[in-house]
Amino acid sequence: MILRYYADADVREWHDHALRLLRTLHDEHGIAVEIDRIDEQHGPITDFPGDVRSSTPEEVYERDLKRNRALNQTIDQTPSEAFKRYGRLDIAGNVAVVDDEGTVRWASTLPGYADGYRPGAASQTAMDFLEDIATAPSNRICVECLSLLDGDENFCPNCGYEFP
Ligand SMILES: [Zn+2]
Repeated sequence: MILRYYADADVREWHDHALRLLRTLHDEHGIAVEIDRIDEQHGPITDFPGDVRSSTPEEVYERDLKRNRALNQTIDQTPSEAFKRYGRLDIAGNVAVVDDEGTVRWASTLPGYADGYRPGAASQTAMDFLEDIATAPSNRICVECLSLLDGDENFCPNCGYEFP
């Protein structure tokens, strides 16, 4: 599995913070990370420990999100409601968990910090998700196999990894 970042987040701080967290996940947890750069606005990304590709919102929407049944089951809205607001694609700044077959199993639906969003939105933001799994014990995802978790498990039901 792999963690994919749809860059760049609008706000430079969020973007830089996401890059830092992705590096931490790679270096400290051995999680594969990559970037689809669909809205380049904050300068070159250097020394990133994974693929950095240039892409368009339309390409990643068609490939990853549109009519994705697995994703439909793990997010509250349908992918088109979440990523196509008012008929316009709104994907940059989000992160996705991609399985070995290349299917997106989960994606954040709010790109930044929960600041300014309604209460309870934190579980849907890219940054909270990245921070949750960068900080042990992970309670949103298994750092070994990247299975999604409910948050109260002591071990991963998929691979048996025991959380510290
Ligand atoms: Zn696991």
